[in-house]
Amino acid sequence: MFDHQAECLGSVDESAKPTLVVPNVAVRYLGNQHDTRLRDERVEGIEPSSSVWKTEVLTVELHPRTAVADPVNLSACAPARPSLGPDGVCTLPAMTSSDASPNVVPNGAHLIGGDWSTHAPGGTAVSDNPARPDQPVGEYPLGDVSTAADAVTSAVDAQAAWTALGFGARARILERVAVLFDERADDLALVATLEEGKTLPEARGEAVLSAETCRYQAGLAKTSTERIFPSGTRGETIRTVRFPLGVVGVITPWNFPILIPVWKIAPALVTGNPVVWKPASNTPLTAVAVAAVFHDAGVPPGVLNLVLGPGSMGGALVADERVDGVTFTGSVGVGHGIRDVVTARNGRVQLELGGHNPCIVFPDADLDMAVAAVVGGAMGATGQKCTATRRIIAVGNIHDELVDRMAAAVSSLRVGDGQDAATAIGPLVSMTARGEVSEAIEQAKAEGAETVAVTEGVPDGPCFQAPTLFAGGTNLTITSEEVFGPVSTVLRVDDEDEAFALANDTEFGLSASVFTNDLWKMDRAINEMRAGIVKINGPTTGSEIHAPFGGDKNSSGHAAREQGDTAHEFFTRTRTAYIKPGSPR
Ligand code: NDP
Repeated sequence: MFDHQAECLGSVDESAKPTLVVPNVAVRYLGNQHDTRLRDERVEGIEPSSSVWKTEVLTVELHPRTAVADPVNLSACAPARPSLGPDGVCTLPAMTSSDASPNVVPNGAHLIGGDWSTHAPGGTAVSDNPARPDQPVGEYPLGDVSTAADAVTSAVDAQAAWTALGFGARARILERVAVLFDERADDLALVATLEEGKTLPEARGEAVLSAETCRYQAGLAKTSTERIFPSGTRGETIRTVRFPLGVVGVITPWNFPILIPVWKIAPALVTGNPVVWKPASNTPLTAVAVAAVFHDAGVPPGVLNLVLGPGSMGGALVADERVDGVTFTGSVGVGHGIRDVVTARNGRVQLELGGHNPCIVFPDADLDMAVAAVVGGAMGATGQKCTATRRIIAVGNIHDELVDRMAAAVSSLRVGDGQDAATAIGPLVSMTARGEVSEAIEQAKAEGAETVAVTEGVPDGPCFQAPTLFAGGTNLTITSEEVFGPVSTVLRVDDEDEAFALANDTEFGLSASVFTNDLWKMDRAINEMRAGIVKINGPTTGSEIHAPFGGDKNSSGHAAREQGDTAHEFFTRTRTAYIKPGSPR
């Protein structure tokens, strides 16, 4: 069934071929994919989206392990329970060792109260591989309203002990989570590639940055968040103290199925909140693999709960009065619906939504740099990034050369199975997504867009989409509405003022970039582009985990930014203490 995967993993002799066994309840990946390319090597015009990746060298080799035929016994994953001794010292349980449980990714189960459960009131569903839809990745149970309620109950039950553990012990657990993310990076990458379609290096990058995020958030927990204020009353001190928000609902999309959940879960946990996580239905098994990392590293029962099921189950989660805050990444419509429900009961909500990100290329730009960044930003990850470059605004006479060079780069991109080392662009996540993207392309053509380039040699398959570059005017629907795929448009303007005005002419404000060597224009970009992230001579995509991430206008909500040291603000409540000594008796 999975012979093709062995082929894609490299040239090995028959006896040494890695084996991938995917029974209904388990994925075991028995080989390691290794790739010795430097991350900052340009792969067919696609640049890495994060500078963290630029310094990383991958050193993985094909070392097949002994094949295991039995599915994972999920009940054998004994819940690990940290305990507080009488002296207040926290004892951490033994971590599930990677030797004892090599490359094992349990799947097809909810994680509730520390137990893996296949409770399936909604039946079971199959998770597909978009590169090979005839070869399902595995099955998973569909929860419903009662599953969400059970998970919230277990989070409520776990809350007091988790908070009492203190930030030091929570940070130590998170550091162990980081170790397991590094150890299991290849397994996580494989399951994410199988379900989402992205390339293995991209997926592995997510796992590595997840480790980095956990390490960073653990360290951040040890920095003081308290503030001292002067008082108008003599002898009085005013001090702020932070407390956990409470039970947190985490609802995540499929496009970064490893990293986006970890951006949310790591700061929520380390600040003392139990979590109920509902992942996207396109990537449930990746979610199980991620939850298993937290579970195996010693996150106590009930502190991280995972529920698999449809959007309506997410609706039940956000409507639950016991959920104090919800952090969501996904579409504008669903995000606004969640906001309305949560704020109506005075809960807290954090939203990361869509984007329509502009990139201005000025005549003095370094064109080599601009072309690589713009093509990578527009087409990388098959254009399925909220930060993807949707509009390229070419100023003056740079337009024609920019279009010619981008067209050459787009035409020669390599589209294929994400497991194939030669692939730069994988399939879209699903047939539904493909249908939406091809409809938007046809509409653009009907509206008069000029097709500048279409990638050639795209494999057959219902989820593969040829990256497409258009040129045209601002009357096109694709220049205002987000198309979540490898489609971008070059727009020509005459001068700087027009460029900045056009860049801001969108309901979204997630990221923006400019290519120029002129300090004045750089300064204007930082001050005038209405976006949460502005890059100078860089792609609209990519961010660093220690810097705040989020957008303006319809791209985000109004809560604190994700990532960086702002991440803790959303997950904590501030109390202001006024402390004044009494007079001696
Ligand atoms: P959705 O907003 O539909 O889904 C995101 C998450 O919300 C999923 O886990 C989904 O579950 C869940 N969900 C769906 N309906 C509800 C509900 N009523 N209450 C609570 N949770 C719900 O996004 P899609 O995955 O369908 O992608 C659609 C569009 O969203 C894309 O085309 C893109 O524009 C945008 N998007 C933006 C992303 C970003 O990074 N900002 C990431 C991904 C998408 P389920 O999967 O089971 O439906």
